[in-house]
Amino acid sequence: MNNQLVDSQGRSFPYLRLSLTDVCNFSCSYCLPEGYQCDSPKNYLSIDEIRRLVTAFAELGTWKIRLTGGEPSVRKDFVDIIKSLRSVDGIKQIAMTTNGYKLKEKIGQWVDAGLTNLNVSVDSLDPRLFADLTGHNRLPQILEGIDYALTLNNLRSVKLNAVLLKNINSHQIDQYSQLLKDKPISMRFIELMQTGDNLEYFNQYHVSANDLKNYLKAQGWSEKIKSPGAGPAVEFVHPEHKGSFGIIAPYSKDFCDSCNRLRISSTGDFHLCLFGEQGFSIRHLLKTDEQKTELKETLCRLLGKKRKQHFLHDGDTGITPHLASVGG
Ligand code: SAM
Ligand code: SF4
Repeated sequence: MNNQLVDSQGRSFPYLRLSLTDVCNFSCSYCLPEGYQCDSPKNYLSIDEIRRLVTAFAELGTWKIRLTGGEPSVRKDFVDIIKSLRSVDGIKQIAMTTNGYKLKEKIGQWVDAGLTNLNVSVDSLDPRLFADLTGHNRLPQILEGIDYALTLNNLRSVKLNAVLLKNINSHQIDQYSQLLKDKPISMRFIELMQTGDNLEYFNQYHVSANDLKNYLKAQGWSEKIKSPGAGPAVEFVHPEHKGSFGIIAPYSKDFCDSCNRLRISSTGDFHLCLFGEQGFSIRHLLKTDEQKTELKETLCRLLGKKRKQHFLHDGDTGITPHLASVGG
């Protein structure tokens, strides 16, 4: 049996994005504009199932886990989940992506539990626009939480995410630059992706990340050479800024060549790509520790089905209605 996750293109997968829930308390205009709709109660993966899953991935070479959702921090057992992952052999990084709700109150507990890396979504630095985009007038509190996070020694990185939106935040790059002057933050812009539910929105607000790259270059930012094994983000640095910009451009040529991540949904479906046609349920293999060998064999066999690239350019968004469903 393979003892590493390597696909038919020779790509390896040190990175697992694990969705803990599809519930979210925000209503971002590009993701859940009507807020979370509860059609029927779901049975999310338990701590024991998560530990078994991550142990199997770690034995197959995965060393970085990102907890995402929905909003991962709405899970009442969130701190215990982090603690249980910390004790899995081989896991070197436990990261999360959060909307930052209650960040200041909670980040200390999360880091004490073992969180090593933090990404916070901040789609605008203008409080009114932020409230319009997310449905929550909380930008000042979230920024305070980020400042506090920067003081925590055991937190290795603080990154901010923003979805690049035409004529909304695409004109606010200078505000972000200002923020990066003195703060060692990586500010990641993600090109808006089309999902099953957002076609009209996508057509109105999608802007190519190339425009942003050109703008940054004109302002004196320079592209960093990627280190081997780095993911798809392209980093930009500037001699007068402590922080950096990162651009994630899923529509760019060759984006999928550097794919290094796999995904598990909050109910235990294995997704080979955010925009794949199906998830494969592996939950029946998470019931006991004794199933580990079968689980590892199944993961390696399913990885054989991973396609070379997504088909977003053709408007094929796979089964993803919005990113909260699979875990963005
Ligand atoms: N709730 C958390 C948050 O917002 O940070 C974690 C889950 S969210 C789905 C993960 C990331 O996906 C966020 O940075 C969000 O902005 C991004 N995202 C959601 N929908 C997107 C879309 N259609 N295109 C690009 N990025 C998207
Ligand atoms: Fe919630 Fe994150 Fe989606 Fe916003 S992007 S609605 S915070 S899951």
